[in-house]
Amino acid sequence: MRPADATLPELSLPELRRYGRHLTLPEVGETGQMRLKAGRVLVVGAGGLGSPLGLYLAAAGVGTIGIVDFDAVEESNLQRQIAHGTSAVGQPKLGSIVARLRDLNPHVSIVPHEAYLDRSNALEIVRAYDVIVDGTDNFATRYLVNDACVLEGKPNVYGSILRFEGQASVFDARVGPCYRCLFPEPPPPGVVPNCAEAGVLGVLPGVIGSIQATEAIKLLLGTGDTLVGRLLLYDALEMRFREMRLRKDPRCPICGENPSIRELVDYEELCGVKRPAADPNAVTARELAERLGRGDDVLVVDVREPHELAISSLPHGSRVLHMPLRTLPGRVAELPRERTLVLMCHRGSRSAKALEILREQGFTRLLNLTGGIDAWSRDVDSSVPRY
Ligand SMILES: [Zn+2]
Repeated sequence: MRPADATLPELSLPELRRYGRHLTLPEVGETGQMRLKAGRVLVVGAGGLGSPLGLYLAAAGVGTIGIVDFDAVEESNLQRQIAHGTSAVGQPKLGSIVARLRDLNPHVSIVPHEAYLDRSNALEIVRAYDVIVDGTDNFATRYLVNDACVLEGKPNVYGSILRFEGQASVFDARVGPCYRCLFPEPPPPGVVPNCAEAGVLGVLPGVIGSIQATEAIKLLLGTGDTLVGRLLLYDALEMRFREMRLRKDPRCPICGENPSIRELVDYEELCGVKRPAADPNAVTARELAERLGRGDDVLVVDVREPHELAISSLPHGSRVLHMPLRTLPGRVAELPRERTLVLMCHRGSRSAKALEILREQGFTRLLNLTGGIDAWSRDVDSSVPRY
């Protein structure tokens, strides 16, 4: 926890000058600023939430900021991931944000963790920090971060965003509920869309990430009321904040009275992200490229929206039919039943829905392109733009 005042690090003259507006606040003052300097915060993800988080935590003088990320900056990130610039497109996000934060505040230590956070490294990384802030956008990492924080006894500052709506809370199983008290198990894959599929207002992560940064700073200062036991809901279209009371669930599988989870599990498997080995309807991008290349009688049905097609498409024009998912139920008659249909979308979840629709209509020769056109760009043809 917070070190006793006697062990707090002194502030240098440049630091006293830099943090003047904090020092003026009685709730922060010199002692509070020293607490921030002694504080260690881990930011998981250097994307939409991680950008404002990293910027505000570094600017505030949080002494040690760890950042976990393994992605590269893509052009479509720049609409909201404000720590990265156009010159960083194609570069690792980690290097880009670390350079930005070091430039912003040379008095703080920025610790890059270039890793895909998983069960093998999460506990060790989490252990080195006082506060963990979850800036990820997928369920596998969200459950991993929650479980690692419960097992290590750390507060987990949670945030999530989609379309025009965001949420934030502070999960701390020592004094309140954890994420699994709300949602004991992840939703089935494909049920909850992500920002790539459903879109997100660019400024939204700025609002939610700033709320998370505020909570992390208050936890380090030990002041104010945090979001422990409360879920804050934000609707940007209505411009309204609401709040839900959260209770600790005594039957919670990890922080309840008789926990069934005592160690980290395989979170991709838990969330159904991994392709089941025996899925007879799955086809990988490489397998599809081979089949198209040797002239197999397959018809690719691209169920993406027209604006996505304008960005990227498969280069086999005559053998690709475009039929957005929302129009599919009304256009089933246009599809040949005797041919093998390969359904594809951006990353594979809309096409999985399309496959179910056609299966119910009696189609039997159906394949789903695992990972969608994104996998095609990654594994077959890098000239196809990713988005
Ligand atoms: Zn719990």
